[in-house]
Amino acid sequence: MKICFATNNQKKIEEVKAALGSEIEIVSLEMIGCTAELPETGDTLAFNAFQKASYVKDHFGVDCFADDTGLEVDALGGEPGVYSGRYAGEPRSDQRNIDKLLSSLAGVPKIERTARFRTVIALLLDGEKYQFEGIVEGEILEERSGTGGFGYDPVFKPKGFSRSFAELSMAEKNEISHRGIAVRALIDFLKKR
Ligand code: IMP
Repeated sequence: MKICFATNNQKKIEEVKAALGSEIEIVSLEMIGCTAELPETGDTLAFNAFQKASYVKDHFGVDCFADDTGLEVDALGGEPGVYSGRYAGEPRSDQRNIDKLLSSLAGVPKIERTARFRTVIALLLDGEKYQFEGIVEGEILEERSGTGGFGYDPVFKPKGFSRSFAELSMAEKNEISHRGIAVRALIDFLKKR
């Protein structure tokens, strides 16, 4: 089975390909000739995920799925949440986002640095809409640790681990991550069809 993953984030494509295995083949936006920045203007993860997937379906006519992810930090009342990508403004920058997060949490003790990543995947298939979700609990470190992954990975330590996401292999991250969990729900659904 072939399906388009509506994202311009190459790191996400690599993670999802690794999680999908060989039964489901990912078609990239580049492969369908989509070079546009996908719209993402809502204030919920689900809205944004469906907005991105719908853009691709409407303009290119292919079945597809899109994800949207937010980092919810308890000490910040759930922020940056759906605004995680633009937390430090435009143009988007992982480095500036992390700098802003660390300074917002300056002086907050370890026990109060709890946070979670939440991913919503929106699937448009054969004229129907489906939604899948994955959550991973963890905490925000006081400084960056590790060079792998992307986004907030260097400052997110998943619960029960002594390393940040940026210090885990892709397989280790996929096993427990928000996106890994949501992708496995997507795969289970696609396999049962
Ligand atoms: P989006 O889902 O691409 O809109 O991502 C929103 C924000 O969360 C961006 O700053 C991403 O870099 C970040 N992000 C998404 N997924 C991950 C992840 O798996 N690890 C770390 N940061 C992530």
